[in-house]
Amino acid sequence: MIHRPALSVVIPCFNEEACLPELHKRVSAAAHAVVGADHEIILVNDGSRDRTWEVMKALAATDPLLVCINLSRNHGHQLALTAGLDLCGGDNILIIDADLQDPPELLGPMLEAMKAEGADVVYGVRRKRAGETLFKKVTAAGFYRLLSRLTDIDIPLDAGDFRLMSRRALDALLALPEQARFVRGMVAWIGFTQRPFLYDRAERFDGESKYPLSKMIKFALDAVTGFSTAPLRFASHAGMALVGVSLVMLAYILFGWFSGRAVAGWTSTMLIVVVLGAAQMFVLGMIGEYLGRLYMESKRRPLYIVADIAGSARPPHRLGHVAAQAEITAASETPGGSGSAPSA
Ligand code: UDP
Ligand code: MG
Repeated sequence: MIHRPALSVVIPCFNEEACLPELHKRVSAAAHAVVGADHEIILVNDGSRDRTWEVMKALAATDPLLVCINLSRNHGHQLALTAGLDLCGGDNILIIDADLQDPPELLGPMLEAMKAEGADVVYGVRRKRAGETLFKKVTAAGFYRLLSRLTDIDIPLDAGDFRLMSRRALDALLALPEQARFVRGMVAWIGFTQRPFLYDRAERFDGESKYPLSKMIKFALDAVTGFSTAPLRFASHAGMALVGVSLVMLAYILFGWFSGRAVAGWTSTMLIVVVLGAAQMFVLGMIGEYLGRLYMESKRRPLYIVADIAGSARPPHRLGHVAAQAEITAASETPGGSGSAPSA
C-alpha cells in the first residue's frame, strides 16, 4: 500500500527558473514546520522555455520529498495545476503559485483555520495585491464581479487558486471531467464547507506575470462559458428584442409605402444593415464560443500529457496511467519509498 502523506503542496510552474530555489526553500520549511517530513512537494513544469526543468531535477536530487513532473508541452496554468492535483496523494492539499506571491508560511494558519472551522476548503482572499499593474487589478476586480453576476454558484471574489483542500474535496474536484478548466470555480461548485482566509498578496519574487492579455481572455472565457449560459440567454433575448424592433420598422415601412411617401433612404438602410450585421455576428460569436467548447469536450482527450517524472522517492499516489508513458528519471531506491510507480 502506498503511504498517503499528511500534506501535498502542488505548484504549477511556467518559466520560473529564478523562483524555484527560493520557492523550494520556503515551501519546504513551511511544510516541515507543520507536518515534519510527512509531506510531498509536487512541482509541475508546464512546458517552460527556460531552464525550469533542469533546476527542478537538480532540486529533486537534493530533496526526497520533492516530485517533479514534466509536461510534454505548455498546457496552461489550469491544466498544469490539474496534473499536479491528479498525481498528488496527500490527505490535505495546498495549491500555491510558483512566484511566491502567495506566502507559503500561511500554510500553518490555514491548516489551523481548516481544523478550527471544520472546513474542507480554506481559500486565500487577496486583501492587497502588491506589485501588480493597475490594469491587472482593475480587470481582475471587474471580472470577478461580472462572473458572480453571471453564475449561479458563489465563486468567491478576489480569490485565486491559493487554497488548502481536504482529500475528499480534492477527490470531488477531480471527478469533474471537463477540458476547459476554471479550477477556482470548480472548487466552489463542489460545495462542502469553504472558508475564506484573508491575506496580502506579495510581489512576484522574480520575472514577470506569465498571464499575458491573450491568456487572461481565454481564462475569462473559460470561466464564463464553464459556469454560465447567461450569454446564450442574452443572445436569445437580444434576438427577441431585435424582432420587436423590426416589427415596428416593418409597420413604418408599410405605412410609408401605402401613403406613397416612401423615400429611398440610404442612411437608414445602411444603419440597419450595419447594426443588424454587428448584432448577428456578436450573437453568432457567442454561440460559437459554446459550440467550440462542446466540440473540444466531445473529443475526450486526456487533459495533459506527462513526459518525465523526476525524484519520485515516494511515487505520486495516483500516478496511474501516466507512469507508463512518462520517463521516470532518478527513479529512486530511497529507503521508505516504494521504488517504482504504481501501475494503472
Ligand atoms: N503558469 C503555468 N502555465 C502557464 C502560465 C502560468 O503553469 O501557462 C503558472 C506560473 O508559473 C505561476 C502560476 O501559474 O506559478 C500563476 O501565474 P502568474 O504568477 O504569472 O500569474 P499572475 O499571478 O500574474 O496572475
Ligand atoms: Mg503571480
